[in-house]
Amino acid sequence: MDEEAAANAKRLQMFKKTGRQTRISWELLAAADLFEHNVRLSRRDLPKQTGLIGLYIPPERWSGPANPLPSDDNPVRIRLFGGIGKDGNGDGRADPKSDEDVLYSYASFLSQYGRGLENSKIGLWDYYQRDKSVGIILGHMKVIKKTGHLNLAGRSFPVPIRYNYSYRSTWGDARGWGGRRIHEGTDVFADYGVPVLATSYGVVEMKGWNRYGGWRVGIRDVRNTYHYYGHLNGFAKNLREGMVVKPGEVIGSVGSSGYGPPGTAGKFPPHLHYGMYKDNGRTEYSFDPYAYLRIWERGDKKKRKK
Ligand SMILES: [Zn+2]
Repeated sequence: MDEEAAANAKRLQMFKKTGRQTRISWELLAAADLFEHNVRLSRRDLPKQTGLIGLYIPPERWSGPANPLPSDDNPVRIRLFGGIGKDGNGDGRADPKSDEDVLYSYASFLSQYGRGLENSKIGLWDYYQRDKSVGIILGHMKVIKKTGHLNLAGRSFPVPIRYNYSYRSTWGDARGWGGRRIHEGTDVFADYGVPVLATSYGVVEMKGWNRYGGWRVGIRDVRNTYHYYGHLNGFAKNLREGMVVKPGEVIGSVGSSGYGPPGTAGKFPPHLHYGMYKDNGRTEYSFDPYAYLRIWERGDKKKRKK
């Protein structure tokens, strides 16, 4: 077992234990933890994760907004001031730096809303006050429930590397059609019908027509990243919105759809438009997929040699 898998096994144990103690589903705890882990990676205003748990409870929420001690670890006083910090490991302290205490405090907050996912959803909304954050967490939960584990680091290049294809860095280039826009993605040129693959574990969030992107698919992955696949020729037969996909799974095929009403095609050479958008817990922004594509391509080449 590698280091990451060993850490995931420990995490899994913690989620299951705290889930039993608080009657909150362990998959939901794991999903929220993954969401916040990703948020911390994409934000500079939050402290870096040091332990196994990615959840971060800000001091005023931990200790209570009126608590004169922002880093209070006395569970009784914290409770008095309306903080959510609790002692999860039984050492008498509610330590915001303890993985067990943080996880237990978070789960206890949700358990106030009662049992069952519908109640937990209300708790999540109260906690984050943001639909998008709750939606991403529920998506992560779906993936974790489907796979039953936390080893979700797998990646794939978006077309099978045995086919002919080419791409270069074009992110930010000007685009003429449909007004002034910049190119938010990388174009992977390949023939009509070449399979298009999911690049990571995630949930299909969108499938349909758009006058720019043509037939397109949107997948929200386990890293809080949204993947946009445009100009497809068609979709994989079984592809549905809300479906969990894994890296390398076929979601459609390369085409030249778009730049007009539904069904328009052939206005440019066939290619996959691949875009990536990161949600950092506050906002979503486009970033350049090129460097990632290079890494995943190398990874697939290595796998092929084995
Ligand atoms: Zn493009």
